[in-house]
Amino acid sequence: MKVVYTNEALALSLSNIQGDLGFVPTMGALHDGHISLIEKSRSENKFTICSIFVNQKQFNNAEDFEKYPKTIDTDLAKLELAKCDMVFVPTNEQIYPANFKAPYYELGNIENVLEGYYRPGHFQGVCIVVNRLLDLIKPNKLYLGRKDFQQCIVIQKMLALQKLEATIELCIVRTKRDQFGLALSSRNLRLSEAAKRKSLILINSLQHAKDALNRDENTDLTKIQNDSINEIKKAGFESVDYFDFINEDFEVIKDNNESKRIIAILTAATIDAVRLIDNIEI
Ligand code: AMP
Repeated sequence: MKVVYTNEALALSLSNIQGDLGFVPTMGALHDGHISLIEKSRSENKFTICSIFVNQKQFNNAEDFEKYPKTIDTDLAKLELAKCDMVFVPTNEQIYPANFKAPYYELGNIENVLEGYYRPGHFQGVCIVVNRLLDLIKPNKLYLGRKDFQQCIVIQKMLALQKLEATIELCIVRTKRDQFGLALSSRNLRLSEAAKRKSLILINSLQHAKDALNRDENTDLTKIQNDSINEIKKAGFESVDYFDFINEDFEVIKDNNESKRIIAILTAATIDAVRLIDNIEI
């Protein structure tokens, strides 16, 4: 496995490869969820590259950025074991040189709802870094996790805005969970065992809500939403930012009589000062 740290070394190494290139962007603190993206890319491409870069531009909270776990040695060992071909570990200066001008992306309403509402500027920061990495790497396929569903839709939009859709295929990989169902996340490292057990309420409530919708498509969404938020709080969460139903245009649906189909339920909640997100497909 080749590890490169500069844009020049990256360009040189990439110039030697032939065949489809799959790219998995990450912020490190790798777990089996990230590795499942590497495996998917390996199964669909001749060559797989992973990047590890904690992108300050996507953190709206300075403390969250400071606290973000950094485990580069174990990350590289995991990638080696997963037979990743190359890892790009740039410094901030490589990604954002002094003359770098951050573009602004017209993302529309998607950046004002759910994660966008609670993390102002977050999705602009995500688009800036992913667009920059795509410029440097020029992959054929880009692998993102369904765990960050809104992020997948945002990146799909960015690819369309940048006219990259025809050259880069976005591949969304299903959420990897632990044996009990908790979505794997780098933030789980900050959870006690007890908090991890309590956190199962997220996927359980999402599943209950989905079951209720499947049983009766005219069911009262506000009631499901309120019941779910109460259940999550009762399980020990300090706060629930949202538990919402979204349609195919990524609009939050409050009333089940709307014509557009519900495609997912998304939630974000905080336990032991750790903010977790999860979602379920309908
Ligand atoms: P991050 O390092 O958290 O920015 O995540 C890098 C990529 O891994 C993103 O595309 C995430 O959606 C994806 N990812 C994170 N957790 C999981 C998971 N549990 N299952 C599948 N993909 C994941």
